[in-house]
Amino acid sequence: MITRTRIESLRAAEEDRFVTTHPRSAALAEQARGPLLAGVPMPWMTRWPGRFPVFFESAAGARLVDVDGVEYVDLCLGDTGAMTGHALPQVTAAIAERAGRGITTMLPSADAVWVGEELARRFGLPSWQLAMSATDANRFVLRFARYLTGRPRVAVMDWCYHGTVDETLAVLQGDRVVARPGALGPQVDVAETTAVVPFNDLDALDRRLAVGDVACLLMEPALTNIGIVLPEPGYLEGVREVTRRHGVLLVNDETHTLCAGPGGATVAWGLDPDIVVVGKPIGGGIPCAAYGLSAEVAERLSGPMLGHEIDVAGVGGTLTGNALALAAIRATLSTCLRDEDFALAVPLAERFTAGVSDVIAEHDLPWHVQRLGCRAEYWFCPPPRDGAAAAAAVDEELEGFLHLWCLNRGVLLTPFHNMALFSPHHTEADVDRHTEVFGEAVAALTSGR
Ligand code: PMP
Repeated sequence: MITRTRIESLRAAEEDRFVTTHPRSAALAEQARGPLLAGVPMPWMTRWPGRFPVFFESAAGARLVDVDGVEYVDLCLGDTGAMTGHALPQVTAAIAERAGRGITTMLPSADAVWVGEELARRFGLPSWQLAMSATDANRFVLRFARYLTGRPRVAVMDWCYHGTVDETLAVLQGDRVVARPGALGPQVDVAETTAVVPFNDLDALDRRLAVGDVACLLMEPALTNIGIVLPEPGYLEGVREVTRRHGVLLVNDETHTLCAGPGGATVAWGLDPDIVVVGKPIGGGIPCAAYGLSAEVAERLSGPMLGHEIDVAGVGGTLTGNALALAAIRATLSTCLRDEDFALAVPLAERFTAGVSDVIAEHDLPWHVQRLGCRAEYWFCPPPRDGAAAAAAVDEELEGFLHLWCLNRGVLLTPFHNMALFSPHHTEADVDRHTEVFGEAVAALTSGR
């Protein structure tokens, strides 16, 4: 048993250490409380451990330096937005070059053709569109699915996350669909818009889709936003069969599962979705996302896409598909996230998993560590079968303490995840540094048990 008192007393010491070592961040945080709501430019930034967020100065490859000159091994990588590593010279050069020739014109640039061809080659779906963020892409895809099927609802997995998309901020409470705890001001009751099913439960999916009101199932092939929950053998094949039988479009959101390989889990596991969404790292940090359509879906949408009123269809965005994003995607996908890059990053994630797993075993804790490609995450329970089981094991105090302990020792983890993401720029020494620090934290927590 790790007691609350133990966590609290260790945490207090870590808070003091954090404040002492980050005076410049402290001053900026104090100033930021004036003009910025909650002292941050984006709400999630309040979720970092420590009394205030660390203000960052620079990031390159797998390293980040804050305004106090403290250097970190970055295992967060912008929660996947920088999965390639930060500030890659070839991407920086392409962005600078494109920015010098104009960014936003509402016209396609030649890079668009390369980008469409490369995405089609990687993911196997023939027809592509751009978006500004994965959230955006998901919202557009849900619209297309409702339009094509004439059905009102979308289905998602219990405890999924697909961005700030209203319909997806829903969970099961018994048999009822309710707003996810924390969702602010839902625009429509999610019970009206959304069907929710547990991951790894084909019968539940079959029963729910049989009602006939669901346009599409939007899912990650493995849940990555409530720890990592892997699909059981045969589950994803079953999902394809059930969705097809009920005329429900299957959308794979590969925004995070791109960690499984150059074509995400879709290609790594031979999946056959109707639509694929990708976002976050494909532009090397420049905001952009993309969605790919099967030939059949593309064919059915090509008419409306050329319609006179497509500008008010609820799909698109003035800055979407801008030349800067296209240049960034081209520079990124031509030099990163390729087989040879995963060949470097995945063994590091394996080493991380082995190290963390040894610490867990050594202290006889009922925790586990899971891995998908170059992403790994530990969670405070045995491997769960679905999102609800994983959510039941969330322990914010423990997580906050571990994150702060690591941050104070130069290792940055993603807030609201116990996730470590590896790029080709990390080293084995980086992994071992985390294992050492994590081992010390767990030893401190369990000492005197
Ligand atoms: N899809 C998935 C699977 C995600 O994990 C996220 C963000 N964590 C998103 C979509 C949304 O990405 P963004 O916040 O960049 O829009």
